[in-house]
Amino acid sequence: MAEKSWSLSGALRGMFSRETITEETWDDLEAALITADFGPDLTETLIDQLRAQVAKYATTDPKDLRRMLRETVEERLSALDSTLTLSERPAVILVVGVNGVGKTTTIGKFARFLRSYDRSVVVGAADTFRAAAVEQLATWADRAGAQIVRPQHEGQDPASVAFQTVQFAVETGTEMVIIDTAGRLQTKGGLMDELGKIRRVIEKQAPVSEVLLVLDATTGQNGLAQAEAFIQHAGVTGLVLTKLDGSAKGGFVLAVQEKTGIPIKLVGQGEAIGDLTGFTPHVFAQQLVG
Ligand code: GDP
Repeated sequence: MAEKSWSLSGALRGMFSRETITEETWDDLEAALITADFGPDLTETLIDQLRAQVAKYATTDPKDLRRMLRETVEERLSALDSTLTLSERPAVILVVGVNGVGKTTTIGKFARFLRSYDRSVVVGAADTFRAAAVEQLATWADRAGAQIVRPQHEGQDPASVAFQTVQFAVETGTEMVIIDTAGRLQTKGGLMDELGKIRRVIEKQAPVSEVLLVLDATTGQNGLAQAEAFIQHAGVTGLVLTKLDGSAKGGFVLAVQEKTGIPIKLVGQGEAIGDLTGFTPHVFAQQLVG
């Protein structure tokens, strides 16, 4: 399999080709973790943890160190449950995040993902101020084989579109509802109020099963700042990391989960409709560390 751009394999190759673990090994490992955007705190924690393990098992073999790193990353990633909660009918999923992170694309891919499990899906275009956004979402819904509820006029109250989408699902027995929302962060207060209103209106008809925050993996640690506002105000239940295919920041995956305390539930690795998968710590740790 081709090496992923975010894999540490290349950076670790040199140090793991040495015969024994030396101080240089630790320096190289630290540099590799920092470069991969684990962040300084997590890098230090991991190095300390690994040093303790190496001492405990009295090993000098770099292969043992690699295995310990892989297991440690997997264990830390597994600390939170990455399973989507979609058992309600309808299951309502709110998708939030700032413009440009890949929200619309993710909704299209996610609709297709659910359709591939034979679930009926309706998407709600509650980003009503950008006509182009509605059209883009409609194209994705069509490709995914999902229904769409659009605003009746530009600028219609997003909450009323969300309400109508859930109402459509209830009336037609559609199993999954995915609601797109606006992502204009320049009006942060307004946006958070809008998300709160959307949620309240939906809950008159059905509980909200998931609030997924979409984050662009290429922004790395910088993306954390914008995540904060959503996490504080929008009741986020899961993270979706997009553009991991173009990112050299594999460490961000663990860093973002630990910093936010919110599990990663989906990962986007490409622009095509099939490029979205659930998040499996074992597979990810394997590919990251090699
Ligand atoms: P939105 O403004 O958040 O709705 O963002 P869009 O869904 O319009 O996506 C913005 C750009 O990111 C588009 O060019 C997408 O094709 C691209 N994109 C979205 N997800 C991914 C991904 O997982 N990988 C890559 N390489 N590009 C992506």
